[in-house]
Amino acid sequence: MRTRLRIEACKNFLAVVFLGCMAVAPAGVAAEGLRFKPGFNLFSPQQDVQVGREASTEVEKQLPLVKDAQVERYVNDLGRRLTQDAPNNAGYEWTFKVVNSQDINAFALPGGFIYVNRGVLEAAEDEAQLAGVMAHEIGHVVMRHGTHQASQMMLAQMPLAILGGVLGQSSSATAQLAQLGIGFGVNSIFLKNSRSAESQADEIGTYILYRDGYDPHAMAQFFGIIDKKYPQQGLQFLSDHPNPGNRVKKVDDLIPQLGPAKEGKTGSPEFQVAKKKLLAMPPAPKAKPAAASTPSAPGTAPAPTPPPAPSSRLVKYQGTGFAIAHPDNWEVQKGQEGVTLAPPGGVLTGSQGEWAQAYGASVSQQVPQKKGWGLIDATQQLLDSLRQSNPNLRVVKQTSLKIKGRPALSTLLENDSPLQGQKETDRLVTVRGKDAMLAVIFVAPQSAFEAYRPTFDAMVKSLELR
Ligand SMILES: [Zn+2]
Repeated sequence: MRTRLRIEACKNFLAVVFLGCMAVAPAGVAAEGLRFKPGFNLFSPQQDVQVGREASTEVEKQLPLVKDAQVERYVNDLGRRLTQDAPNNAGYEWTFKVVNSQDINAFALPGGFIYVNRGVLEAAEDEAQLAGVMAHEIGHVVMRHGTHQASQMMLAQMPLAILGGVLGQSSSATAQLAQLGIGFGVNSIFLKNSRSAESQADEIGTYILYRDGYDPHAMAQFFGIIDKKYPQQGLQFLSDHPNPGNRVKKVDDLIPQLGPAKEGKTGSPEFQVAKKKLLAMPPAPKAKPAAASTPSAPGTAPAPTPPPAPSSRLVKYQGTGFAIAHPDNWEVQKGQEGVTLAPPGGVLTGSQGEWAQAYGASVSQQVPQKKGWGLIDATQQLLDSLRQSNPNLRVVKQTSLKIKGRPALSTLLENDSPLQGQKETDRLVTVRGKDAMLAVIFVAPQSAFEAYRPTFDAMVKSLELR
């Protein structure tokens, strides 16, 4: 569950990033009127290659690759040709590999290590669409989105003064990253793209298509195909490459700026051969469950081990205007808008300094805007606002109850867990106070919710309101 509650550390985050930008942002690359400019980065492009190579070794331990010389050669040749039309493309170690997975996905590691799933080649209608996906990935590499993300996360974790020295002096950026807990596997921070990074990769992908003589609509076209024809198979793609909003329209608006319209190429015989070969191969092995993969960056990875079970000894937390009991082995984190009560490891920090709770509870007070507000409306308002950062939040059941004589609502919810590949169950309890509504959200992965239920029930019973 992602809530608006913030840990104090995040407050300094923006200030530090801003300073960092002024000090280290590299110069932009103008590409015929378009400005393709990599964002703030603590790494050098050489270090991009270094960490990318390391990450690729890790990734290839976790993912099966298609071993077919003809397919491999085709994808590699196509990819290398596309990189020649990319802005800011010098100094990278371009390799393109096909992952034996039916999921429609592709990803890029820093420094030029690009992976395209077999599912992409099988779903693409022509070479231009495949080239569009690959050009989008090349966009992530040349704009250095992976190490940009990692840089932001590192800034959130340590002061700029220390960071300045860390990567500069070290002979091995990877060793330093490992020390910071930044992992290299399939759940690595390098693969978590922000929406603004997605927009930029879309622009570059389209730009490359145009320059290489393809129909520049092909990339956006393929995203449309995933949406409509393969919503399930494309889930991971949208998780790794979140839709920045109006994706297709933004690309359409960009195309006239690229230059005079021209008849773009779409197909090639080599594409058809490769696609046929893949379709004729035995089905790809089923993906391993997320829990079996190597844990990496906090907030982006499965927790290495579940938190310790909640202690049956409860202690009281006294907030302003309310009190609630919690297991004595849980940690209390006070934020600006409320408090989080969680077992050790129950709260994960994400790439942008944002954080998400996988286990525990959070308490906040909501002051409804309208006078004479009702509990049902105010609860609905809160659900709407939660949905902004939890797009798959779904109400399962709502029941009314009384807490210490006050009207209350209990709303059972289903949601995506921040633990990759897992669903979570949330229970939202809202109680009418004098001027405000008290909201308690209980969170646990679906598989663990039953085990946590007695603790959550006891906490609800313990609630006191002024
Ligand atoms: Zn992307």
